[in-house]
Amino acid sequence: MTTSPTGFDPLAIINQPLTIGPLVLPHRLVMGSMHLGLEGHRQFLDRLGTFYGERIRGGAALITLGGVAVTQEGGGQDMLGFYDSDHVAMLAELVERIHRCHGLVGVQLFHAGRYAKEAETGLKPLAPSSVYCSMTRNTPQSMTVEDIERTLDAFVHAARQAYDAGFDAIEIMGSEGYLLNEFLAPFTNRRDDAFGGDEIRRQRFPLAVAQGIVDAVGDKIAVIYRISGEDFIEDGTPSTATIRFAKALQDSGVHALNVGVGWHESSVPTVAAIVPQGAFQAVYWALRHAVTIPIMGANRLNTREIIHHVLNNGSVDVISAARPWLADPQFGNKVRGLVPHRLNVCVACNQACLDHVLAKNPKPVSCLVNPRCSHENRPIHKVSRVKRIAVVGSGPAGLEVSRRARELGHEVVLFEQHDEIGGQLALAAKIPGKQDFHYTLDYYQAELDRLGVLIRTSTTPDEATLLNFDVVVQATGSQPQWPSFAPITDERVVSFIDILKGKRPLSRHVVIVGSGGVGIDVAIFTAHHHHGPITLLSRSGILGRSLGPSTRWIWIRELRALGVHVVGPFQSLAVTDKGIRYEEPLGKFHDVDADQIILCAGSIPNPWPYSLPSHILTLSIGAANNPATIDAKHSFRQGYWAAQLLGQVKEGP
Ligand code: SF4
Repeated sequence: MTTSPTGFDPLAIINQPLTIGPLVLPHRLVMGSMHLGLEGHRQFLDRLGTFYGERIRGGAALITLGGVAVTQEGGGQDMLGFYDSDHVAMLAELVERIHRCHGLVGVQLFHAGRYAKEAETGLKPLAPSSVYCSMTRNTPQSMTVEDIERTLDAFVHAARQAYDAGFDAIEIMGSEGYLLNEFLAPFTNRRDDAFGGDEIRRQRFPLAVAQGIVDAVGDKIAVIYRISGEDFIEDGTPSTATIRFAKALQDSGVHALNVGVGWHESSVPTVAAIVPQGAFQAVYWALRHAVTIPIMGANRLNTREIIHHVLNNGSVDVISAARPWLADPQFGNKVRGLVPHRLNVCVACNQACLDHVLAKNPKPVSCLVNPRCSHENRPIHKVSRVKRIAVVGSGPAGLEVSRRARELGHEVVLFEQHDEIGGQLALAAKIPGKQDFHYTLDYYQAELDRLGVLIRTSTTPDEATLLNFDVVVQATGSQPQWPSFAPITDERVVSFIDILKGKRPLSRHVVIVGSGGVGIDVAIFTAHHHHGPITLLSRSGILGRSLGPSTRWIWIRELRALGVHVVGPFQSLAVTDKGIRYEEPLGKFHDVDADQIILCAGSIPNPWPYSLPSHILTLSIGAANNPATIDAKHSFRQGYWAAQLLGQVKEGP
């Protein structure tokens, strides 16, 4: 095997071209379709174009834009639609931008079906049958035959518009529980006419869409069908029917299948960190061996090792992940071995991407480990006056400000009082289901070394040392708050930090005080490390209130599965001889046996013992600035924006 010094192997499967209908992919890594929350607004077009251009330069063989609705009722907020001529013009401009970067670009033809929201489209959602949707909390309208024929025409018309706009590929969205998927699943298709009643009739409309598009443009551009490999819902499409459907799609002339897994309503996690890497290989494998057209896959394929593994073992022909391109725009070049630098791995947290899209008030996606994501249109200019910058503390905020400030050309020294970098990020990596944060720590260590940030571990700088710098960044993080009910001298009361660091062993009867993200993490950690009873005390009675919609349900389900007993709400607590006593809001007292009480009830900033002269610019970021509301996402983000500010620092006296 011939490999270059960067690890590039020209004979590796990942580097082999692949023909998809009339399209030749130069290699096997494409960026899958993902809604960015910037679509549908002309003022964001440049931002979108810059975002995609950077991913083309980062090695995407093909980029498929986030779903574009084929009808108004099938769309949604901040979404492009083929029914809007201005949107079609914007799509053509995006195609031109990407082609100018010498990239290939596809578009996903989308209809949300019963996942559409009337409040966003102004129209009643349409679906095969009127089946209540727990996600939108609405019941859609059952489609008439005229609705079906109109929607079929809209798909085909959109395909022609996509070809005219210059796209290189079309992906038909037929998975994740959207309209076409709803026709296949007995759960959502209760019809008894030409479009429902048995497997053949349930497949009729999705196959008609595929056939119509192939007939219209299939000889000119690649037609990819995004198929649901597993619905993971009760009364979903049987696996055997999925295999037959895949074969029928192939017979219709579709050029490739991109395999989705799970519906938005599924109770099986499919995209969260708790899902093992490569978990759905068997799903891809079954389809890969049922058809001869190429198979694409995406879920939890986030590292170089797992990607090479699933390509080499023949589960998939193409990797079509999306989020890993948010975490690292150079994803393609790094995974293929063209760039020797370490990959910034997507840790599947969803906190800055899916949770932004799914929020009540949606906002553009970004990335927790790459806060520059979707702000690429702010160019990085090397500073003309180099500053000496001391960063005190190497948690998320300190790591990110160090990296970015150094990229701008400043001299940066990073002080860390402990013997390894990472702060509370290193603790988060110990939580089962969050272990991917180890990749983040490895990435920052490698990146800071590469860039030339001087890292001083096991060092707390004295004031005289800091006087040698132009800028001092306080990124010293926070420490657990010690509530007044907990005697500081009581050996049974411990902070979560001491538990996660292993400074204090776990006892048998454990009570955890606090049900925010930290409390849940610690409960899961505890349940994985001992076999005694665990009680989680929640003041509000609401678990993980600050957690995002894409993962909160998973963590709560995990707590239940692990047998953690949740108690709350309460209004006061007292430590007793036997454990802890809590008072319900109506004044009733209860006792819980405990020989260990772990505090996860808020944080306060770590002390900042320095008093620096005013000519030294001091910035406070991350949890050191506001521990009450700051989490890892905000800390990384503040690190990034602080560095942007340092790009504009004027010369001091
Ligand atoms: Fe991945 Fe989290 Fe970044 Fe989303 S926010 S791309 S899940 S690391």
